[in-house]
Amino acid sequence: MSHPVIPIVANPEALKTDGLGCHSGKEQLDAAARAAGKSETLDQYAQDYPKGPHDQPQSMCPAFGSLRVGLRMRRTATILSGSACCVYGLTFTSHFYGARRSVGYVPFDSESLVTGKLFEDIRDAVHKEANPDLYDAIVIINLCVPTASGVPLQILPKEINGVRVIGIDVPGFGVPTHAEAKDVLAGAMLKYARNEAAAGPVAAPRNGRSEKPTITLLGEMFPADPVILGMMLEPMGLAAGPTVPTREWRELYAALDCAAVAAIHPFYTASVREFEAAGRPVIGSAPVGHDGTEAWLQAIGDSCNVGQAQIDAAKNRILPAVRAALAGKPIKGRITLSGYEGSELLVARLLVESGADLRYVGTACPKTIHSAADLEWLTARGVHVQYRASLEQDIAAFHEFKPDLAIGTTPVVQAAKELSIPSLYFTNLISARPLMGPAGAGSLAAVINAAIGNKSRMNDMQSFFGGTGIGDSAGVWEGKPVDRPEFRTETRRRLDKAAKKRKAEEMI
Ligand code: SF4
Repeated sequence: MSHPVIPIVANPEALKTDGLGCHSGKEQLDAAARAAGKSETLDQYAQDYPKGPHDQPQSMCPAFGSLRVGLRMRRTATILSGSACCVYGLTFTSHFYGARRSVGYVPFDSESLVTGKLFEDIRDAVHKEANPDLYDAIVIINLCVPTASGVPLQILPKEINGVRVIGIDVPGFGVPTHAEAKDVLAGAMLKYARNEAAAGPVAAPRNGRSEKPTITLLGEMFPADPVILGMMLEPMGLAAGPTVPTREWRELYAALDCAAVAAIHPFYTASVREFEAAGRPVIGSAPVGHDGTEAWLQAIGDSCNVGQAQIDAAKNRILPAVRAALAGKPIKGRITLSGYEGSELLVARLLVESGADLRYVGTACPKTIHSAADLEWLTARGVHVQYRASLEQDIAAFHEFKPDLAIGTTPVVQAAKELSIPSLYFTNLISARPLMGPAGAGSLAAVINAAIGNKSRMNDMQSFFGGTGIGDSAGVWEGKPVDRPEFRTETRRRLDKAAKKRKAEEMI
C-alpha cells in the first residue's frame, strides 16, 4: 500500500545518543524530543509522574510496562519502534515473563529516521496488521530514539478497518518506571474507549453486565484478590468490576461504567484522569490487614451512598476473619522492604499488622494522593517510607537497620546475600501472593518466617566460602586470583594526574 510521504520534523541529534537513554544522555534526548515537537507529551508525563525528591530510580526499561499491558490483552497487537538493542532486551524480558505472543518491530536506520521514512514504515506496518478478524486494537510504542526524533505517532489513523490504533511515546527519559508506563497505555486506552462510549453504543462485557453497581479495580493483582474483593463488597450490594489494565478491549467500557474506582495501586495518574472525566469517584489504599480493610470498606460504602448498616454488615462479615488470620500466622523479625510494583506500602501494612518489626519501605513509585492513607498509617507506626527510592537508599536502609530479612529487588537481594542477610525478591515471591482480606493476612507469614529461619544457613555459607569471589576476585578465573596493589596504585596515580591536568586546562 502506498501513502503520500508526510514531512516530519525529524531530529538527527537523537541518533548521537542511540542506546544511551538508560544510562546517560537523558538531557540531550529530552531536548531533542522537545525540539521535534514532543513538548506537550513530555510536560504531561512530568506532571503525571513527578521525579522528586530524587532522580529516576534504577529499574528496568520503563517501556516494558506498556509492552506487558499490550501483550496481556486478547485481540491486541503490540509493535515497538526503537533501537534494535532496546527491542531485543524488551522482547527477551517479555518472553522471560511468559508472554507467549509475538512482539512486532519496525526497524530503522539513521537514514529512515532522519528522512521521516520510519514513520511511513510504521504506518505501512499498522495497515498490514489491521485485520479486524484478529484484532480489536494495535498498540505502537515509540521508545527513546524515535521519541527524541519526533516520530509523530499521533498522526497515525485512529482506526483502520475497525481496528483501533493507539500510538504512545514511552521514553526512558520521560516515564520514570515500568509501573508508570503501564499507566501510559492504560490511560490512552481508557481515553479512546471513553470517547467511543460518549459517541454511541459499545460492546457489552463478554460475560454480560453486572446487575449490581461495580467497583473497578485499578492495578494488576494476584488473580484471587478480585474474587476476595467481590466477597467483601457483596453485603453492600456492590460487585467487583474489571481490573485495569484490562485483558480485553470491551472490558474498558465496563471499567468506565462503574460506581467507583478503587486505586489499589496508587500510580495510575493518567487512568484516574479518565475515570474522573467520566465522573467516577476514586478511592485510594486497599483492604489489606484489619485497619486497611475497615477504612477501605467505609470509604467505598460512603462513595457509593451505601447505608451505614450495610457497611457495618460488610465489616462484620470480614474483619473477624482478618483478625483471626493475622493472629494465627504471626511474623517475627525485623524487616526492610523495597520494590517497584506499586504495592509496597500495602505489603508493609500487612507485615506490621502481622507483628513484623518493619523499619523501612522503599518504592520506586511516586507519592500520590492514593497512597496518602497508607503513608500516614505507616509513619504513625515508626516506619520510614521512601518514595522514588534509589538502590543506594534501599541498601543504606539494611545497613542501618540490620534486619533479619531484606525484601527487595534483585540488586538489593544480592547485596543482602553478600552480608549473609536472608532476603526475598519482592516481585517474584511477595507481590505474587494474595494481599486482600483474610487470604492476604495469612499468605505472607509462611514464606517470610521460613526465610528468616535460614539465617544459620547463610552464616554457614559465608564461613565456607570466606572471601572467595568477592570484589576484584569475582568472576571466572583460570588460576587463583592474585591481588595486585601496585596496579591499583599506578591507576590511581594516572587518574590523579589526568584530573590535575583537566583542572589546569579549565583555569587557562
Ligand atoms: S528504550 Fe528503554 S532500553 Fe532503550 S534506551 Fe530507552 S530506556 Fe533504555
